[in-house]
Order: sequence, then C-alpha cells, then structure tokens
Amino acid sequence: MHGKDVRLEGVSITYPNGFTAVQPTDLEVRAAEFFSILGPSGCGKTTILRTVSGFVEPTAGRVLIGGEDQAGIGPNKRPTALIFQNLALFPLMKIWENVAFGLEARGVSRRARRAKAEELLSLVALADQADKTPGELSGGQRQRVAIARALAVEPAVLLLDEPLSALDLKLRQHMRAELRAIQQKTGVTFIYITHDQGEALTMSDRIAVMNNGVVEQVGTGDDVYAAPTSAFVASFVGEANQFPGRITATEGGMAQIETAHGQFTGRNTTGLREGDAAILFVRPERLGFGGDFSNTLHARMERRDLEGAFVNYALRTDTGHSLMMHQTNAGMTTAPSDSVTRIGFDADSALVLPEGPVARTGAEIAA
Ligand code: ATP
Repeated sequence: MHGKDVRLEGVSITYPNGFTAVQPTDLEVRAAEFFSILGPSGCGKTTILRTVSGFVEPTAGRVLIGGEDQAGIGPNKRPTALIFQNLALFPLMKIWENVAFGLEARGVSRRARRAKAEELLSLVALADQADKTPGELSGGQRQRVAIARALAVEPAVLLLDEPLSALDLKLRQHMRAELRAIQQKTGVTFIYITHDQGEALTMSDRIAVMNNGVVEQVGTGDDVYAAPTSAFVASFVGEANQFPGRITATEGGMAQIETAHGQFTGRNTTGLREGDAAILFVRPERLGFGGDFSNTLHARMERRDLEGAFVNYALRTDTGHSLMMHQTNAGMTTAPSDSVTRIGFDADSALVLPEGPVARTGAEIAA
C-alpha cells in the first residue's frame, strides 16, 4: 500500500441552506503521514473529510489527491476509504468475510479474498479471530476489524471520523497506539478527525487545529502546544492560565501586558503592537513557587491534588484570579496552605497572543 498526499487549495464549503461550514482553506497532508484535524464540535472537521472523500463537492477551490484534481470524481472512484464512529459490521458474517466484503464486488475469488482478509487480520492482530462473528468480539476488536475492512480495498488515504469515541477510556488509549502502529506498518496516509486533543497529540505527525470553519494552525503536537499562534489554539490544546489585558510595550520579540492582576512580560510571536488587546497564556507546568521569576504574583493555595508523579495546585491570586499549577512530585517544596505565598513564571515561558480568532500573518509581522 502506498500513501498519497492530499491538498486542499482555497477550498470553501457552503451547504445548500447557505451555511458556510468551511472558510477558504489551504491544507497539505503529506503522503504516508498521520494527520489529525482537531477542533470542537461543529467546527467543520467532518465537512472537510466529506469533501476529501467525495461526498460533498467544495463550493470553491480544489481537492487534489496524489496531485490529481478530484473534481467530478465520485466517492467510489477515489483512492480513499472512510471509517466512522458507528462502524457497521455485518453481524451474521464471519470476521474474515466482513474484512473481505469490498473485494467480492471487484470480482476477487473466494480463496484470494480469504488470503487478503487473513493478511489484514494479522496486521490488526486478529489473525486468530477470522472465523468468529462480530458479536463474539470486544468493541476494540470490532474497531480493528473495521480498519482491516477499510484497508482491504488498498486505499492511499484512510479517512477516520472520530473512530474511537464509542469506546471506553482504557480501550481508547490502547487503540491510539494500535492505530499509530497500523498507520506506520501500512504507509497509508491517515486523516484523523477528533475533538480530543490527547488523541491528536499522541498519534499525529502533524495536527490542524480548527475553529469556526477556519484552520487556525497546522504543526506538530509540539508546535501547537508550545507555540500556539492564536488564543483559540492556546486554550484548546492543553491547559493554560490566561491573563487578558492590553499591550503597553514591545521589544525584541517580547511584549509587556497590563492586566487586572499585574503587569507581565511574555513572548510576542504574532507581531502584537502597543495598545493591542491581548491575552497572556502560561501553562500550569510553567508556574512555580518562589520569587525567583521575571513575573511574580501573590497567591494562596486553595487545593493540592496528588496525582502520583504529579501534583496539581489550585491557587488564587490576591486579585482574585484562579490559577492552575502542575509540578512534578520529585523533591519539591510544598507551599504553606493557608498563607499567601509568592509564585511566578519566566517571560520566556509565557506567550502573549491576540484576542481575536487568528493571529496576524507572517507577511504582516514582517511589514
Ligand atoms: P462534530 O465533531 O460535532 O461532528 P464537526 O467539526 O465535524 O463537528 P461538521 O459536521 O463539519 O462539524 O459541521 C460543521 C457545521 O456545518 C456545523 O455547524 C453543522 O451544523 C453544519 N452542517 C453540517 N452538515 C450540514 C448540512 N448538510 N447542511 C447544513 N449545515 C450542515
């Protein structure tokens, strides 16, 4: 199997009722990449997937798969296969027959179908389940059968629409590793839709973060977590403490922001200027106890939750702002619980981002 690249060029999608679910979007998914589209419910993720699979034609722009324009090519003729959350296996058919189902219509002999099904079942670690029926398998096993079935037609691109959301938490976590392994073994391009940032971060080579029909950022998990370019991405991926305010000065890639809880400094990666409304973001693990930081506050500890390797603190500043702090549980000092203590964070570990939906473009920053 060979993965192909997928390109969206200026694709926008307006449904017949006039609702624009996807604003003009450029997106490139590389061949053999595990690519996730992450965003809250209703942001347009499924609509993009439907356009790649051919069930919805873009209102404007082009979809290219392996460099070929897909305009006018129906879903059955595209090199794609789709897996949904509610997979539908045939309950009375054996597992191997389910896997080989799509091959019968293509005139493949029963013997060759069985061989192909066995090859794919061993890929998803179900070789010994071939003669059972779906009712005899667990939810996670059934999901793997659905993946094997989708792979049977040798797609270049596998489109997965929240395929794990019906499974329980433990199984979901286990299946993350399984899916990643299957993707790597087959070299098929995976486009994976999810609203779960944990899934996107653990499995993906790269992630597109979407909000309100707009792809706000594309990057590796590290990129979107450590260097979000919009307030939405900073708050949707991972946890963050937020300090809204107004920029009072900028210098050398840093910005000073006046907030209701004090004046702070953080990195300015999006070209914010003096007077702009902005939000300072600082991750809970970047806060620490003590006065040894370039930004400091006074706060009281309201709760300490031991999570084993980590300790989570709920803090309240003297200005009434609640904050989260995460610390590793290794030789750490514990703050006094009922008295006000100094906490802080370094300017380098905080980001100041515009309030609005999307950051200024690179060209605007350079100008
Ligand atoms: P979810 O995770 O809930 O599936 P999503 O990000 O996949 O959300 P979409 O299913 O792409 O979102 O829907 C995006 C927006 O388009 C939503 O506001 C939805 O109500 C709207 N929408 C989806 N399908 C249609 C349709 N056939 N006609 C009109 N509007 C639609």
